[in-house]
Amino acid sequence: MKSTNSYGKPLEEKYILGRPESPLHKGRLKYAEDYLCKRGTPTKAMADGIVIKVVDGKYEKSDEERLKDEDDPGNNILIQHANGEYTHYAHLQKGSIIVKKGDRVKEDQEIALTGHTGYSIEPHLHVSVIECQDKNKPLSLSNFRSLKINHENNSGKSGKLESLVFGTIALIGIVGGLSFLSPNITGNVLGGIAQNTSNWVGGILFIFGLVGSFYYFKKKY
Ligand SMILES: [Zn+2]
Repeated sequence: MKSTNSYGKPLEEKYILGRPESPLHKGRLKYAEDYLCKRGTPTKAMADGIVIKVVDGKYEKSDEERLKDEDDPGNNILIQHANGEYTHYAHLQKGSIIVKKGDRVKEDQEIALTGHTGYSIEPHLHVSVIECQDKNKPLSLSNFRSLKINHENNSGKSGKLESLVFGTIALIGIVGGLSFLSPNITGNVLGGIAQNTSNWVGGILFIFGLVGSFYYFKKKY
């Protein structure tokens, strides 16, 4: 099942070193995501919400100890969002969490630094979007399931604005370009203006349109 909210990325693209499949992402955690990154990478809230749980103060375990408890998320944050969904951020660096229970957060707001605490093979950020499996009972370790994360606007707020800008350029470019290039298609009014102008205006507008559409679709998908 896919999340109904759309979520931004928890890390900036330039810090992401890999997206490995984890053998632990099964059952309830089927749709969790891992992002390889250096320790100390700024972690951002994936959507507006309210912090409902913070665990901090856990040291990194020794290499011998770290793979003994599969259920240990290390230092972690749970944020509640609209539509009954939650985001969970795990393995955070000790002492790096800058939000507390009850805080309201905005999408893209920095909340902590990534780390290597809990059950973690190498430094990474583990995130999941979850909901209560039984909606009549409170969220708990035995009452949750992960949802496939809807990254529709996958660069957060700035991404949405960029998509809008590129989309507009694409539309103006293609419509404008075609009007200048093919006066016969667009009829007398635009065609009259266009015939007095050389084809290069249409050509340039059309190229802008193609470039705009390329970036629009690249951002969106
Ligand atoms: Zn994970």
